[in-house]
Amino acid sequence: MVKNINIKTKSRNEFVDITSDIQAVIDESGIRNGVCYVYVPHTTAGVTINEGADPSVARDIQNTLSKLIPHSGHYLHTEGNSDAHIKSTIAGSSQVIVIDEGKLLLGTWQSVFFCEFDGPRHRRATVKIMKD
Ligand code: ZN
Repeated sequence: MVKNINIKTKSRNEFVDITSDIQAVIDESGIRNGVCYVYVPHTTAGVTINEGADPSVARDIQNTLSKLIPHSGHYLHTEGNSDAHIKSTIAGSSQVIVIDEGKLLLGTWQSVFFCEFDGPRHRRATVKIMKD
């Protein structure tokens, strides 16, 4: 089963918690045990797993990435979004999560975040679920 999650970001840099959207796809599939792939088909966005309980963590990650990879710099790419391409590579385009008894097998504090690095835009994340 494959399904797209549509995401409308509001800022240039933004982490959107998509954990409940992914869980909804699993619920809809009826699959109790298997693997869930989350893939982001964009070159200036990514997907990561990190703490969702304290929103300061996502902010700290974004702020630190922006400090390390400034928006303006000596980049060769002339679109003005090289920083977003680099951040996308650091975050990565996919995550794999085990499905156990119908639930994403995440740690207590973990959430899945869509990472926007060149928003605001209409984006999507593709969720593929495979049964055991
Ligand atoms: Zn570009």
